[in-house]
Amino acid sequence: MNNKKRKEILFKIYSENFKFIKDNSSLKDNFDKGFGCFCPICLDFFVKEDLEDKINPLTLEHNPPQSLGGKSSILTCKKCNSDAGHKIDNEILTALLEIDALHFKPNSEIKTQFYNESTDGKGVNAKIKIEEDGKFLINIDTKNNNPKIHKKFFDSEVQEYNSPLFSNDISKSGWSKKLNFTFDKPNKTNERLASISLLKIAYLMAFEKLGYLYIFNKNTEIIREQIKHPEKEIIKNPFWITYQFPDNLLGVNIITKPRELRSILVIFNLKTKSDSYKISICLPGFSEGDEKIYEKIKDILCQGNGFQNIEVNNYINSEYNIKDIEKTFRLVQFWESFVEKQ
Ligand SMILES: [Zn+2]
Repeated sequence: MNNKKRKEILFKIYSENFKFIKDNSSLKDNFDKGFGCFCPICLDFFVKEDLEDKINPLTLEHNPPQSLGGKSSILTCKKCNSDAGHKIDNEILTALLEIDALHFKPNSEIKTQFYNESTDGKGVNAKIKIEEDGKFLINIDTKNNNPKIHKKFFDSEVQEYNSPLFSNDISKSGWSKKLNFTFDKPNKTNERLASISLLKIAYLMAFEKLGYLYIFNKNTEIIREQIKHPEKEIIKNPFWITYQFPDNLLGVNIITKPRELRSILVIFNLKTKSDSYKISICLPGFSEGDEKIYEKIKDILCQGNGFQNIEVNNYINSEYNIKDIEKTFRLVQFWESFVEKQ
């Protein structure tokens, strides 16, 4: 399917979702714009003509980012799409590629500097690549290096003699050359920005699944503010849960117990060339005070046995579908009749 068609389909699904909510709530009396939908990040309203608007059209957004295996699943406005892309989406990619490299996982790569006594503290630029089969390839080319330092570095190899009499491995005996060096671990990651990009992925997944029912919930205001202003510390505490939930919970779920952790739990995989990372992020639920979830995660889970008491309900994943327009408000009913009573 081409992008234009895909945009039109998404526009229709989410505009119908909004129309249903509007027609069945107090909004019907005081919302005077036509058939359309909102950008889930800035909450600007768009009608169909805006799909082609030159200045700020609705755009297909890959969520999670395409570089981490995501698909084009929602519409956000061009401004939000590119702002977040520049400010935060790259951060999570950088962070995961660094983790891959630090663990020398197959298909990972480290750009670094090698140091030894010959390099005068300057270092030679080098690239370490770990191949599919685990082999290390080290590339120190002259193009990226000062030729003098480059030469000195290679001249610093030492000759070593291993007597075959005392060697366990006869192939390693005799004369050999050795280059000794150290290198810095990569650490370009801005952890704070990387974590906000996880929050954004989770928020947009919740929107994709639940539509405007979720983002008109006032508890989600702080999430949008944090995504729009990644440089500010609006949410101080962790929003992730460091527990490996089973694969059948991938998607949007509800933590029902313990009461203090009641929240929407979004679980997703991010895929690099080397590995797959399962991430679990909490978002506020629908009850009053649920936006305080982030003040509690750290306290409860740091007590050690917090996970034993976690109960996750998969109602949203198994029962809820944005296209099932008649069932739009069922989640609120489920929340009030079941989740709040837990
Ligand atoms: Zn926007």
